[in-house]
Amino acid sequence: MRKPDTIERLFLDFDGFFAGVEEQARPRLRGMPIGVTPFNTNTGTCVIAANHRAKLKGVKTGMSVVDARRACPNIELVAQSPDLYERAHRKLCLLVEQEIPIDVICSIDEMCCRLEPKDIANPQALSDRIKRRIRENIGDYITCSIGMAPNLQLAKIAADMNKPDGLTILRPEDLPDRLLTLPISALPGIGGRMKNRLMDANINTVEALWRTQPKQLRALWGNVTGERFWYALRGYDVQAEQTQRAMFGHGRVLPPEWRDFDNAFNAARLLTIKAARRLRGEAYLANTFGLWLRLKDDRWFGETHVGGANDDQAAVKALTTLWQKAKADLPPSSRIKRLNVALYHIRPVSAQQFDMFNQDDPMRRKWSSVCAAIDAVNKNNAKTLVSMGPWTPPPGGYAGGKIAFGRVPEMEDFW
Ligand SMILES: [Mg+2]
Repeated sequence: MRKPDTIERLFLDFDGFFAGVEEQARPRLRGMPIGVTPFNTNTGTCVIAANHRAKLKGVKTGMSVVDARRACPNIELVAQSPDLYERAHRKLCLLVEQEIPIDVICSIDEMCCRLEPKDIANPQALSDRIKRRIRENIGDYITCSIGMAPNLQLAKIAADMNKPDGLTILRPEDLPDRLLTLPISALPGIGGRMKNRLMDANINTVEALWRTQPKQLRALWGNVTGERFWYALRGYDVQAEQTQRAMFGHGRVLPPEWRDFDNAFNAARLLTIKAARRLRGEAYLANTFGLWLRLKDDRWFGETHVGGANDDQAAVKALTTLWQKAKADLPPSSRIKRLNVALYHIRPVSAQQFDMFNQDDPMRRKWSSVCAAIDAVNKNNAKTLVSMGPWTPPPGGYAGGKIAFGRVPEMEDFW
């Protein structure tokens, strides 16, 4: 494995992205602490993004609106506008690309670039140019933090070290000293469960982690990811693993008036159709459909076999089956706070040729072609004009674009 002897990667992370876009787009919010919520209501929901001013008062992502108001009484809560964030994302990508080619778009507010020799010679100037271009073309309210390091993993850590509006350069000679003050959970790849596992092994600090051997981390992680983590932390050029797409799913926090079984089913049905549409869009078939329900003090999960399908009909049928099961299992007065649906155990359509020609059921094929026709109409219009059955978005709108941190939403994800 190659070990770069200088900085090679830039990681750019927008600060409180959704809140920054809101502040930029709506002058009345400027200078205020801002929390973005999934929909327009004052109770029963949570903050999905906060700006720096709100964070300084202790507001955190995922905090309930009640707690956020307690921490920061003058917080301005705004319902999210995913289409606005998506437009901002596209424009920001274009602006960054005018300074440096983007190598990977990691999520709606994160991207990674490879540094060119002239940038390696003067990293501060590159950072200044990117920030100035954003300021001059968009405004002062969308800021980003930039990290530069020998590899992507360290550049991401660096970007997080000086927020907001920061620039942090981690050179090979800065290792491990500048990492030693970080809490172990600040390292990407160490979530709650991994942190507990490390603590059980008496690895409580970055320093203790630094003293481990690759084989030890491999054993703790249970696979090669641990070993990759060890090399990444030391600045080796560890290529990000090709993440194989494992599932197509959508999740939604429901507005309070949609939390009974009937209304929640309508929301779940729309999310299911959206997931099936994306599955078809990327030419996959799924074998399993899963439904996750989060209630006030309870959870419910069920999955069912759909057998190499990607049409709305099969997916909605699977949802209906699971929904009846959930209703039978849970008290009738249950309130569903959040639901997720997903199609998984997938394989590319091209791998299905044999079945398609020899044994596939003719009804399934008919549904597939109806869905393909509907998809074509909707794709051309970038929203849902045609669907099988009713299409009533819940208040607050946006089924698919909803929880959009992990991937960049497509225009068709919005209602
Ligand atoms: Mg961010």
